[in-house]
Amino acid sequence: MQEAWRDEILAKRVLVAIFNKAEKLGREVRFMDVCGTHEDTITRYGIRSLLPKNVKILAGPGCPVCITPVEDIVAMMEIMKKEPSILVTTFGDMYRIPTPKGSFADMKSRGYDVRIVYSIYDSYKLALKHRDRLVVHFSPGFETTTAPTAGMLWEAIEKKVENFKIYSVHRLTPPAVEFLLEQGTMLDGLITPGHVSTIIGVKGWKYLTSRYGIPQVISGFEPLDVLISIHMLLQMLIEGQAEIKNEYERAVKYEGNIEAQKKIDALFNVVDAKWRALGIIRRSGYVLKKEYEEYEIRSSYEVNIEELPDLEKGCRCGEVLRGLILPYECPLFGRVCTPRNPVGPCMVSYEGTCQIFYKYGSLYG
Ligand code: SF4
Repeated sequence: MQEAWRDEILAKRVLVAIFNKAEKLGREVRFMDVCGTHEDTITRYGIRSLLPKNVKILAGPGCPVCITPVEDIVAMMEIMKKEPSILVTTFGDMYRIPTPKGSFADMKSRGYDVRIVYSIYDSYKLALKHRDRLVVHFSPGFETTTAPTAGMLWEAIEKKVENFKIYSVHRLTPPAVEFLLEQGTMLDGLITPGHVSTIIGVKGWKYLTSRYGIPQVISGFEPLDVLISIHMLLQMLIEGQAEIKNEYERAVKYEGNIEAQKKIDALFNVVDAKWRALGIIRRSGYVLKKEYEEYEIRSSYEVNIEELPDLEKGCRCGEVLRGLILPYECPLFGRVCTPRNPVGPCMVSYEGTCQIFYKYGSLYG
């Protein structure tokens, strides 16, 4: 199946069609991806370098770890200092994210029990194994990750696993795109993330097209998926259409995953939330509802964190996340800032645009 989506002859045909459409359009167009996995595909396979000069791909805020507020990471670290027996789990890239007060990796080196997990399920298993300890999953991620968080919490609530809690820094993706559009980011189309769409469906994105007239194509993650999506966007522009189309029909349904949506809606409220380097975005964060707040670690420990600088001096991660620049336009990129010595969050995370460009991008920038 995967091979079919990497077919070289088909890819060449789609590229020829893209060149024809771009020439017919006769102006510059700017499409944005809002997903680290899409950015990985685009940069890894050198897709930008294959496209006509008038078709630009911008990278948007597609990395949930990069946008997790420093204040939340620091708050979790302060809770650990208050209660050193807590076992904290999080994902590998979040573990290394720098803040002005250090990282989870620094806490580990000071003797606190922080463990890297691949999913919230691993964290839950630790809670079952160590019933005498409080296990807290520091839980970042967009809708795709919120769904398993909701599923796992649901089970913890049903089975009364009271030593399992989360620190929710989950975020919703469509409000971030809306934020960029309202801030005046000029886009001709959106390469809409397929995995988020498996949860929220085509319907979850529709309002952006109706309200802002922006064409969208929900795209899969193979190189051919992305090329076909770009072709579909160009076709819509030529025909003067602003619609949402689904290239990733093999995984995304119009309604999305209704079971997952029900669990998320039952457990979480949607609130205004901060995104690191972007600021407050309206109705973009998930917090546990009052009736389930005992499963949110913040309800048990009060910590007051002053506002901290989002980024180190000179780091242009905010502009990278807004799609205003590509990483190699940051003077620190690859010189001072590398994955081994990251200055900003966009260089730490596997989904961060700077790390992706560092890994593959210099060849194709
Ligand atoms: S290269 Fe490093 S310093 Fe520059 S924007 Fe990216 S993360 Fe920030």
